[in-house]
Amino acid sequence: MACLFDSPSVRCKQKGCEVVNRLPVPNHLDQETIRINAPTASEPLRILCKDCWRLSTYSGPQEISTQPFPDIALSGETPIYLIEFVCGESGCGLPIRVYKRDTRVLPENVAIYHARAALGGLDAKCPAGHFLSKGRDQGCSSSNL
Ligand SMILES: [Zn+2]
Ligand SMILES: [Zn+2]
Repeated sequence: MACLFDSPSVRCKQKGCEVVNRLPVPNHLDQETIRINAPTASEPLRILCKDCWRLSTYSGPQEISTQPFPDIALSGETPIYLIEFVCGESGCGLPIRVYKRDTRVLPENVAIYHARAALGGLDAKCPAGHFLSKGRDQGCSSSNL
């Protein structure tokens, strides 16, 4: 029998989906987990839904709820991916982070392609309003958080 454990989570905001995406449990030894669980209006949490691949944005910790998940959800088979863009406008350099929980191996170019498309494709902008298509720095990493 699977054990249940509590984990922070967010519900997909897209119509017809409403799937629950599990977030990492905050751990003070890992700043990424703290950042994910403490979104603000200026630095919102962006989640690419594990099922529908569409983007939901959460701008405050009140949008995160705690739910029970089976322990299998903690296994290394469901890593969380961080896809990060850095604005290429000179003097800006703001980061835009998109996270996605997935059971599959996501090749870096696929993850970046989907994250950019979900952010608006060629119209995707950094928080300061510069077009991200000018940006050169982008990357994807995954961890079993
Ligand atoms: Zn969804
Ligand atoms: Zn910028």
